[in-house]
Formats: sequence, C-alpha cells, structure tokens
Amino acid sequence: MIGINDRAPRIDADKCRACQRCPVRKTCKMKALVQFEAHELPYIDRNVCRGCLVCLEECPFRAIVAE
Ligand code: SF4
Ligand code: SF4
Repeated sequence: MIGINDRAPRIDADKCRACQRCPVRKTCKMKALVQFEAHELPYIDRNVCRGCLVCLEECPFRAIVAE
C-alpha cells in the first residue's frame, strides 16, 4: 500500500508509561509520533514515519521498538 512505511517502529504498550508529554515527539523530525492528550499512549503514524529509528534511543523506558 502506498505511503505505509514497513520500517516504522511501534509503541510497546506494556512498556510505555504514557508520560504527560512524550519527550520523544520532539525527536521525530517527521512529527510521526503523535500524542493527542497528556498521559495518553502515543502512536506512530506509519504514513509519515520514514523509518530512521532515531526515536528508539530516546524513550527512557525503551517503549519504542522496531518491528
Ligand atoms: S514512548 Fe516513552 S517517553 Fe513516550 S510516553 Fe511512552 S514511555 Fe513516555
Ligand atoms: S523512526 Fe524516525 S521518522 Fe519514524 S517515528 Fe521514529 S524518529 Fe520519527
């Protein structure tokens, strides 16, 4: 399917602490990491993510994992 990035990582719901403001959002230059509300589990927009995997290192709880 066009626009879907197969290299996009995912949020591990068991590890993610749903931080008030997910700090990893600032790391993603594509703004692919989305969190609508504070303390909400963020998600990665696979249509926007380019699969650089920079965000994997940025979550202090290692909640962002490669597929
Ligand atoms: S991905 Fe990491 S930094 Fe972002 S809300 Fe989840 S635990 Fe917090
Ligand atoms: S892999 Fe790269 S583009 Fe995708 S969410 Fe992480 S930092 Fe953003």
